[in-house]
Amino acid sequence: MNLTISQLLQCAEQFGTPLYVYNADYISYQYNILQHAFASHPTRFFYACKALTNISILKYVYQLGASLDCVSINEVKLGLYAGYDPKRILFTPNCVEFSEIQEAKELGVLINIDSISVLELFGNTYGDTYPVCIRINPHIEAGGNYKISTGHIDSKFGISIHQIRHIERIVKTTGLHVHGLHMHTGSEIKDIDVFLQALDVLFDMANRFTALDFLDLGSGFKVPYKAGDTGTDIHKLGEKVALAFKTFEQEYGRPLEAWFEPGKFLVSNAGYLLVNTNIIKQTTATVFAGINSGFNHLIRPMFYDAYHEILNVSHPDGPERIYTVVGNICETDTFAWDRVIPEIKEGDILCFKNAGAYGFEMSSNFNSRLKPAEVLVQNGVPKLIRKRQTFEDLLHNQVE
Ligand SMILES: *Cc1c(COP(=O)(O)O)cnc(C)c1O
Repeated sequence: MNLTISQLLQCAEQFGTPLYVYNADYISYQYNILQHAFASHPTRFFYACKALTNISILKYVYQLGASLDCVSINEVKLGLYAGYDPKRILFTPNCVEFSEIQEAKELGVLINIDSISVLELFGNTYGDTYPVCIRINPHIEAGGNYKISTGHIDSKFGISIHQIRHIERIVKTTGLHVHGLHMHTGSEIKDIDVFLQALDVLFDMANRFTALDFLDLGSGFKVPYKAGDTGTDIHKLGEKVALAFKTFEQEYGRPLEAWFEPGKFLVSNAGYLLVNTNIIKQTTATVFAGINSGFNHLIRPMFYDAYHEILNVSHPDGPERIYTVVGNICETDTFAWDRVIPEIKEGDILCFKNAGAYGFEMSSNFNSRLKPAEVLVQNGVPKLIRKRQTFEDLLHNQVE
């Protein structure tokens, strides 16, 4: 299911480095896992495209049967450009100007409202003519086990469950048609009880609305990043969610779809960042492997302390040695300390795994360096899906 070392090496030789490579088969494998796990209840999956918005990826995920979760009007437009039916796009913005929400409405996409003031304005403007979903903040903290903490009340996302009376007032006064409730409790939730706890909160809320069609549980599926890591137990979650919905539907008296918004789960493990080793620098304290990349291309290790496994694609079988892997930009950009990697020589191609989600997407032109190219491997055939930037791109939009 993963790309082989020789496939990766071939991509580096054919397209150069730094290079993002995505394995389409893996995305479809992950999508099938979701479909099977939730097969016993009507469920829809909205790919959270902020993880990776390349048009070819959006199209690929669409033909798998997924819908799209967007957090900006431009993501919505990318989705439409990629061919998504507006009814298969859910817009979940936070702190955007009302005109952006109006634009989404004009485009005919599903809208998820995340603040009281917008809910009131939307209701006053459109009444019952355009159904909306409401994003609730359940104040559940994702982690080993959930807790409802006053600290978490600081989160900027969603409308607090404690404001339910205010929501009801607005809905009643404006006649707003609420067709769904949403929550997204965070990323990398391993404990399925967190999802189930969130679902209970949603059921509680749902009883206050008469015409819901779906409950959206957002995302947070954890994927393994290194050997020994375990991801969310999707199959167990699927069973428990189906059972919970079935029980609740009897009480509610209407069928309710379950919606999810996987980002990382679909694309993280499908992606690789290939880089070249420019320098091996032995200091008194460590051996640095200096590569032709930096946090301008992959910021997760520095931003989130994320662990990305690193392979030596050129010499996978050499004796293992300990390295500190760093980038080439003028800022502390350490990808990994004390990493055991087969001996690296200058000119070796290294590969960061799990680079599909929030990799290219969070890249920048810091240090006036160019963004990498992107390649999609489908049925074993690598195809360029985004050209490497050129110097001209740095001048683009500058006014002299
Ligand atoms: C980021 C985000 C997701 C996806 O999260 P992952 O951890 O990548 O799966 C889903 N829904 C919303 C609203 C998001 O903001």
